Amino acid sequence: MVSPLWRILRPDAIEVLRDEKARAALPRYFAVMEDRLPARFQICKRVEVDFNRSAPEEELWRTHHEKMKEFRKLRAKVDSGELKLESLGRPEHSLLDLKVELARRMLKSCRFCERRCGADRAAGKTGWCGVGDKSRIASEFMHHGEEPELVPSYTIFFSGCTFSCQYCQNWDISQYPEEGVQVSPQSLAKLIDNARREGARNVNFVGGEPTPNLPTILESLNLCETNIPSVWNSNMFLSLESMQLLSGTQDIYLTDFKYGNDKCAWRYSKVGQYFAVVSRNHLLAFEDAELIIRHLVLPNHIECCTRPVLKWIAENLGPMVRVNVMDQYRACYKADQFEEINRRLTPEEFSRALKIAEEAGLKNVIS
Ligand code: SF4
Repeated sequence: MVSPLWRILRPDAIEVLRDEKARAALPRYFAVMEDRLPARFQICKRVEVDFNRSAPEEELWRTHHEKMKEFRKLRAKVDSGELKLESLGRPEHSLLDLKVELARRMLKSCRFCERRCGADRAAGKTGWCGVGDKSRIASEFMHHGEEPELVPSYTIFFSGCTFSCQYCQNWDISQYPEEGVQVSPQSLAKLIDNARREGARNVNFVGGEPTPNLPTILESLNLCETNIPSVWNSNMFLSLESMQLLSGTQDIYLTDFKYGNDKCAWRYSKVGQYFAVVSRNHLLAFEDAELIIRHLVLPNHIECCTRPVLKWIAENLGPMVRVNVMDQYRACYKADQFEEINRRLTPEEFSRALKIAEEAGLKNVIS
């Protein structure tokens, strides 16, 4: 069993169960966590799909788009209580099987993120992120430091990342894809099922970055037997195809919305088209499931990043979306090469960030 110590260390994780704002923003997550509804990936497994593994990829995508409509109808029936998932048998081939097949195909010309390297990872090549055909994890454990509604969170840290954040706190994992141990979907599924039986509120896929590991993650969820909410903890620089494959499998997108413009994104994370891609994916995630958005406030970046990010969230996702405005910035990794971010955030800067959130109209802020 998970140590009961977290109840003492994180009393807010108990209090959040009575928090109306948290429940209003994440109603389905709470229902899955409390086993009143099935996780989305478990519904996905019950959507029957007749597909031929040797069919061309375009044909499989067409089938996928059609079957996603069926998934949404089934989820609505399950959520309304009109239908019990247990009353449906497990089909020979499911929508989740099809997603796994499509993810494996994408591995042959990698475009899981918007860098779109095209590397044939299935043949042993690597692209920008350096992640190979098999996933590696740096660690996995019951995390007690996440947002209160997520604790205890069974967190899996994948090695490698699609960004190169110059101040990364996890640089020893994110910038070294060869670190950690190789894992199979089978072993991950067993770990996830065990964690749920031991009291995990969710499984939390993070890194580094989970995006290059999408095939492993989908396959492991396909093998999971327990009902556990799935949390996609990501920089959200996914390609459109990856967002489509994720759709219907995640209960929460735990996102990281860092920069309010492409110049800062390029300077600190070496990534282009940041705002267009990440804002697009937030809209898709919001349509698909529930969101907790993290915004790490960077020193000297209140006007260029914090203000536009919080304003965009309020205008596009509404006042009740759950936003974590974070003051935990530390100057790690190569931050000493950038004078303007080579220090902690001041209390004044953090107060200004909270004020901006308030002025933007955000009413469900965790800080
Ligand atoms: S996941 Fe890695 S290899 Fe694939 S497109 Fe992104 S950076 Fe390139």
